[in-house]
Amino acid sequence: MAQMAPAEPALGVRRPALSPSRASDFKQCPLLYRFRAVDRLPELPTKAQLRGTLVHSVLERLFALPQPERLPERAKALLEPAWSELSADRPDWTALFDAEEPADVREWLTGAEKLLDAYFSLEDPRRLDPEACELHVEIELDSGVRLRGYVDRLDVAPTGELRVVDYKTGTAPREIGEAKALFQMKFYAVVLWRLRGAVPRQLKLMYLTDGQSLAYTPDEPELRRFERTLEAIWQAIMRAGRTGDFRPSPSRLCDWCAHQALCPSFGGTPPEYPGWPDPDPGAETPLDRAD
Ligand code: SF4
Repeated sequence: MAQMAPAEPALGVRRPALSPSRASDFKQCPLLYRFRAVDRLPELPTKAQLRGTLVHSVLERLFALPQPERLPERAKALLEPAWSELSADRPDWTALFDAEEPADVREWLTGAEKLLDAYFSLEDPRRLDPEACELHVEIELDSGVRLRGYVDRLDVAPTGELRVVDYKTGTAPREIGEAKALFQMKFYAVVLWRLRGAVPRQLKLMYLTDGQSLAYTPDEPELRRFERTLEAIWQAIMRAGRTGDFRPSPSRLCDWCAHQALCPSFGGTPPEYPGWPDPDPGAETPLDRAD
């Protein structure tokens, strides 16, 4: 079968871009990238992923409230309405819960309350005035590689210094998730540096499963090198996209892969390569952002 080569889309069409989640998928395992971005195989989230998405949505709503109202009880009261909206948008997600057992959802919401408690143990949102939450950022590098993503929160100090904040709610062990999280944060740092001409002062990861945070200060030479890494990843994706050669790269992270049944490393057979998706390889989803 003739494969469709990655090509420039028509004017007005959303252009192919690299997102931190898809870049990190390709780095982890090219076949995982293919399953998600090219085949776009459906993945039902786990309850933990969905809880992360819900908590991200609640924190966004919390920051939309006047500062004095950003209290723990107010945040918890936002959980149910946020879940109603999410589940109205994606009714398939309700399949994760036992419809005959209301306690199932209640227990899950209690888990989300614990994540919010951890959040409030890390900072007091009444004292913060973020410039944006769930900020869409996009830039085309000089090389023509386009980067696109969503920043959980962007704080700007009166001096103009930027702080990029990311909430982590995933269940993967810290030592596995940390490299991935820093990759994602450096991705945003490159985009913001190129968009605003200033290197973000701080990248802050807030781990809501264990109430810890990690702050990282990037510098320009590092971001320059990282930009080249992103360009190399995109070139490698384009090469694989032309040939369909997306190889599996097994690791401990396979435990979190929803596609083991189709993976040759686990005795499976991938579907026939459908060709490069036109115009846009898999975008990030709210579930990616909550990971
Ligand atoms: S199971 Fe592992 S090797 Fe196979 S596609 Fe998933 S991440 Fe890649």
